Amino acid sequence: MKRTGIFFTYFQGERLKDFPGALEGLLDKPNVSYYDAVYGSRDGLFYLEPVAERLLSKAHSQNMIESVKRTGDYESALYSAGGTVQAAEEILRGDIDNAFVFTSFGDHHAGRNFYHGMCYFNGAAVAIAMLKEKGIKRFAIIDTDSHHGDGTRDIFRRDSGVLHVCFCHQDHSDPYNKIDVQIPNRTTDEEYLSKMKQAFIPKATAFKPEYIFWEYGYDATRGEYGDKGISRDFHMRLAELIKTTADEICKGRLIAILCGGSTRDVAAYTIPRIIAILAELNGRSQIA
Ligand SMILES: [Zn+2]
Ligand SMILES: [Zn+2]
Repeated sequence: MKRTGIFFTYFQGERLKDFPGALEGLLDKPNVSYYDAVYGSRDGLFYLEPVAERLLSKAHSQNMIESVKRTGDYESALYSAGGTVQAAEEILRGDIDNAFVFTSFGDHHAGRNFYHGMCYFNGAAVAIAMLKEKGIKRFAIIDTDSHHGDGTRDIFRRDSGVLHVCFCHQDHSDPYNKIDVQIPNRTTDEEYLSKMKQAFIPKATAFKPEYIFWEYGYDATRGEYGDKGISRDFHMRLAELIKTTADEICKGRLIAILCGGSTRDVAAYTIPRIIAILAELNGRSQIA
């Protein structure tokens, strides 16, 4: 079994209202560690730490950081990005193998000098900056949110050490290992999965990243605001595929980061199942 970390931060909105309650059945597993932004150090739980401001400036301009401070959501944004940074550190230290990070604000629409779509800081980019300081050089980011990961692309545009494969509204490929794969508005689970198998897995295998970050947005699910026609069960099939790829090419080092998605039931249905897949619980094939 893999040792999986869950990094949880609280959010005023609707979509995570069932959490952390919906994680029941996972938190008592010996290979699952739970890091909580508020209730750490109780019952063997760990604290989730806010990201250090010093690290923020490695991914974002000072102007941008100052403007987030004026929104009133700064502290919450620090915890959102902090979960991803802490997950990357715990994996590096060998305390966990992979992680699922809840965010209140994040992740992929936060660029070096801009933010939108409720993404204030780019947790993946800040974590990559931290890991680079520790000598890690190659990273893959896979983005299955319905929308283009413009912030992530902006930060790593000319950094060929970061493979960014983004499933969105356009096709794109350039010499800096930046790839977009167009997902039509009406697609099937099978079509999407076959694009994933063609576009991501061979690229990632050849690229040999040391970490994989997965921007897990569920807003492409049927009925969501970025509806592409996929079912909610699709996300577990995707999780299986991405996890298997990480196990094969980068010692299982995988960090799933919650991105877009608004409905409470899809969050409550998919997230615990994805975590079970990461932790190799419940008989993975049955879930998928
Ligand atoms: Zn989105
Ligand atoms: Zn894209």
